[in-house]
Amino acid sequence: MSAQLIDGKAIAAAVRADVRAGVEDWTQAGHAPPALRVVLVGDHPASASYVRAKIRAASEAGVDSETIHLPADISELDLLALIDELNTSPTVDGILVQLPLPDHIDDSKVIHALDPDKDVDGFHPENAGRLVIGEAGFVPCTPAGIIEMLERSGIETSGAHAVVIGRSNIVGKPMANLFLKRGTDATVTVCHSRTKNLAEIARQADILVAAIGRPHFVTADMVKPGAAVIDVGINRVEDASRERGYRLVGDVDFEAAKEIAGWITPVPGGVGPMTIAMLLKNTLDAARRRHEHTAVEA
Ligand code: NAD
Repeated sequence: MSAQLIDGKAIAAAVRADVRAGVEDWTQAGHAPPALRVVLVGDHPASASYVRAKIRAASEAGVDSETIHLPADISELDLLALIDELNTSPTVDGILVQLPLPDHIDDSKVIHALDPDKDVDGFHPENAGRLVIGEAGFVPCTPAGIIEMLERSGIETSGAHAVVIGRSNIVGKPMANLFLKRGTDATVTVCHSRTKNLAEIARQADILVAAIGRPHFVTADMVKPGAAVIDVGINRVEDASRERGYRLVGDVDFEAAKEIAGWITPVPGGVGPMTIAMLLKNTLDAARRRHEHTAVEA
């Protein structure tokens, strides 16, 4: 293997330790622990397991976290009423609504209803807009985690050509905007399902981010020698040798790409753990910011 492995688990553990220390300082200064409320609608097994992992990590960091588990048939109106309650609660700092929601509920309506100052997932249009114009706000956890990984691995972004494959609101678009930010200063290309000559563009990347949702989409011939390859994808592929009948793979053909790349993230154990770590960081920030606002208003 020529590429250096970017160990997301180890980097996430370091971020979580920093958050834990920050929470300790915060509570020692006389504040209540940052409070995170995670709203889970229905019993989607993957969503339930993501929520469990978030709550566990939050508790370990000293964050006061709680899941609000609602039945799958809750009405949109009742869900919006609950969001309103959490928005106005003086003891709640961060709200996360686990997506996707059941079909009869409009995800975007619910995201619009969140107080942007409690939107620790960074999905509210106000936070999306702040990111675009370079103002402080909440940044979606997965792309924020990728920037953190690159920084902590000593990978230079200034002047680097970053190619992002995928243009979702959760990963691709905020990723591109983070690369563009002053201080990060990459030159950015965004590719998507209609991009022509994608392999040729990918080969020009100093930093290649794959956020597509297709196993082994990025092949070795799409990687520039020495590039940093960041694999966001989480895909289930059948594997009869595993008890559960499947294994998780990314969007990158890891075995082949690692022979060409300079750095590479594994799946699992790469970007995934960073997403949770950044959620905790955002929750601590939410508590600090709310305190500042309240202090100014008082
Ligand atoms: P999405 O389905 O919303 O977006 C996928 C993007 O890929 C689209 O913008 C589309 O244009 C692009 N795409 C699809 N087919 C393509 C093709 N043939 N060529 C070029 N581009 C193509 O997905 P998403 O929410 O951005 O997630 C992407 C992947 O990342 C999924 O596997 C998801 O599970 C994973 N994910 C992981 C984390 C994490 O914490 N590691 C977080 C979010 C998403």
